[in-house]
Amino acid sequence: MNIGFDLDGVFIDKPPFIPKWGIELLYRERSKSLSYRFPGKPEQLLRKLSHKRMFRPLIKKNIDVIINPKRQNKHAFFLISARFSFLQKETENLLSSHRLKELFDATWFNVSNMQPHLFKENVIKKLTIHRYVDDDLELLMFLSNCYAHIKFFWLNKKKKKVLAKNLFAIQNLSDVFR
Ligand SMILES: [Mg+2]
Repeated sequence: MNIGFDLDGVFIDKPPFIPKWGIELLYRERSKSLSYRFPGKPEQLLRKLSHKRMFRPLIKKNIDVIINPKRQNKHAFFLISARFSFLQKETENLLSSHRLKELFDATWFNVSNMQPHLFKENVIKKLTIHRYVDDDLELLMFLSNCYAHIKFFWLNKKKKKVLAKNLFAIQNLSDVFR
């Protein structure tokens, strides 16, 4: 299978002192349809700072889940991160210092600053992804509407259930391989 993974919230944790709803409040546009804010210069600098390695701990248990199937070459893994281009340097440093890149057959980054859901929609189609994991439920609802034949997984801390025919809430990353 071709399996796609988001980066933040799947393999990399948020800074410990900011709640998830706080990040979403900052990142989302306040409108009815799904839309993400592209921040101005001062906020870009702040976000760059908050993306330094010391504030973004590795989610080790999720890395462990994909190491074995990767070694056995059972599946092809793709890292698909919609981080905007101003975080490119921080992202590359993070991936190389944790040696994350070698876990994936290819990595895709949002260097042209597309809206994250549209960027992911595009890449998922290009790579003929069969399963995709993310921690952003609204984004997954959008994607699962676009592609009925792909299975989408919402990695979260509270729920484990079927949200739509092709959208599943899971608490453990290993559930993606079932
Ligand atoms: Mg995420």
